[in-house]
Amino acid sequence: MNVTADLSGVISSGMCIGCGACEMADTSVKVSLHPSRLIYEPTSPGSELAASVCPAVSVDYAGLQDYLFPGAAVGPFGVVRSVHLSQSTTTERNVKASSGGLIKELLRSLLSSGDIDAVIALDHVDGIEFAARLVTTPDDVDTLPGSIYHNLKQTPALQLLKDTPGRLAVVAIPCELEGLYSWVRTCEPQLRDKIVLTIGLLCGWQYSHHSINAMGEYLGYNPEDIADISYRGGGPVGKLTVTTRSGEQFSASRRVDFGYQVAFDRHFNTSRCHVCINHSNFLADLVVGDAWLPSTVFTKTGISLVVCRTEFAETSLKRLVDTGSCVSIQVGEDEIRESQTDRVVFGEFAYAYADFLRELGLHTPRLDGPNKGYGTLKPRRHVAKFHRELVRKQALMAARRYKYMKLRKATLELRGYVMRYVRWFMVRILRIKSLSGQRKEIPRDRFQGFA
Ligand SMILES: Cc1cc2nc3c(=O)[nH]c(=O)nc-3n(C[C@H](O)[C@H](O)[C@H](O)COP(=O)(O)OP(=O)(O)OC[C@H]3O[C@@H](n4cnc5c(N)ncnc54)[C@H](O)[C@@H]3O)c2cc1C
Repeated sequence: MNVTADLSGVISSGMCIGCGACEMADTSVKVSLHPSRLIYEPTSPGSELAASVCPAVSVDYAGLQDYLFPGAAVGPFGVVRSVHLSQSTTTERNVKASSGGLIKELLRSLLSSGDIDAVIALDHVDGIEFAARLVTTPDDVDTLPGSIYHNLKQTPALQLLKDTPGRLAVVAIPCELEGLYSWVRTCEPQLRDKIVLTIGLLCGWQYSHHSINAMGEYLGYNPEDIADISYRGGGPVGKLTVTTRSGEQFSASRRVDFGYQVAFDRHFNTSRCHVCINHSNFLADLVVGDAWLPSTVFTKTGISLVVCRTEFAETSLKRLVDTGSCVSIQVGEDEIRESQTDRVVFGEFAYAYADFLRELGLHTPRLDGPNKGYGTLKPRRHVAKFHRELVRKQALMAARRYKYMKLRKATLELRGYVMRYVRWFMVRILRIKSLSGQRKEIPRDRFQGFA
C-alpha cells in the first residue's frame, strides 16, 4: 500500500479518470462531474485507503501483473502470448463495431458456450451518460455501443462485480482495470475468482465533456438536447454522430472534419491521459484495438489488433475462427508497435511529461510500467511547450471559448495540423518505412477472407 494520505493531490491536479475505485474503497467519497473541468472526480479527499487504490496516485504494475499472470514473462508490451489481426465474418456486426467487431463476437461466444454467466460492459443510459450493465444473452451483446471516447464514471462496473454472483467477463479501458484490480486486490480479494476473462481496449486517451460542447458550437446542436452519441461505426475510422431529442442528427467525419480535429485534439483529453503509460492495457487477458497498419489499409469495414495474454484468451479466439465467426492471422509484436506508434506504446511522451510535472512540484501519478526504458523520451523543451499550451487551452475551455480555439487551430497551430496528415500519408499510404527497408509489411495474400 502506498503512503499518500488522501486524494487531495488528485483533486487539485484534475488527474482523476473516473474509475470509481475510491468510492468503492471508502464510502465517504463521491465521484461527480466537475462543473468547469467537465470530468468526473471525487468531491472530497477521502481516506488513505481511497488513495491506496487510486490509479491517479499510483499503479503497482509489477505487482498486479504478477497477481494476474503469475510466473509469466513480462516485456515492453506486458505479458504477451500471441498477437493477431482479426475480423468478424458477420459484415453487419463488423461495420457497426469500432474496429473488427471482435469484442462482440467474443462475448457472444463466451455466453453461448456457457464459459461465463454474464458480461459487465458499458451501455448507453441517456444523453451522453453511459454506464456498465450486465449482459446475459448473446443477442443482447449486439445492443452494446462501440467505443465511447468521453470521460465516464465507471463505478457501476465495480459495483456489478461486487454484487453479481457467478462467472463474469469484463470489458474495460486500461485505467478502469487499474482501478478495478487495485481495489479488488486491496479490499475485496474474493472477487478475483469471479473474473473468467477481461477484454481490454487499447486506449490512447479519453476526452473531457468540453469536446462534446465544442462540437455543439461547430455543428449547431445544443449539448443539453443530446439523446445519444456515437463515435464509430460505418467503416474503419467512422464518424461522430449526435442525435438530439427531437430526432435531428449531426455528424462529422473523424478523419477530415476540421471542427472534430479542434474539439478532439489531445489538449481536450482528461489530464491523466497525458501521463498514462498503459496504452497496451497491461492488465487485460485479451486486448483489442484498431489495426492501423499499411497492410490493413485495404479494409472497408475495419480490422482488430488482438493481444492474447493468457491461454484461455488464445483458446477463446481460436474457437471464433474454428466456428467461422471470425477470420484471424497471427502476427508479431512489431505490429503492435507499428499500429500504435512508439510514442504511446513506450510512453515516450508520458514518462517525459511526468518527470516535467514532478520538477514543477505538481501532483503526478506514480506510473512505472513494463515499457519504461524502451523508446526515446521526448525532450524537455517539447513537453515544456506542450504544458504551456495545455494550461492556456484548459483556461480557454473553462471559459468555453471554443470558437476562438477553432480560429487558433486554423492559424497558430496550422503547421502541426498539416504535418499530421503528411505523416499519415507517408507511413500508411506511401509505406515509406517498407520502401526504406525499415520494416516488412504483411503480404496481402495472408488476408484471405478479410473484408
Ligand atoms: C476511450 C477509448 C480510447 C481508445 N483508444 C484507442 C487507441 O488509441 N488505439 C486503438 O487501436 N484502439 C483504441 N480504442 C479501442 C478501439 O476504439 C475499439 O474499441 C477496439 O478496437 C474494439 O473494437 P471492436 O470492433 O472489437 O469493439 P466494438 O464492437 O466496437 O465494442 C466496443 C466494446 O467496448 C465497450 N466500451 C466502449 N467504450 C468503452 C469505454 N469508454 N469504457 C469501457 N468500455 C467501453 C462496449 O461496451 C463494447 O462492449 C479505444 C477505445 C476507447 C473506448
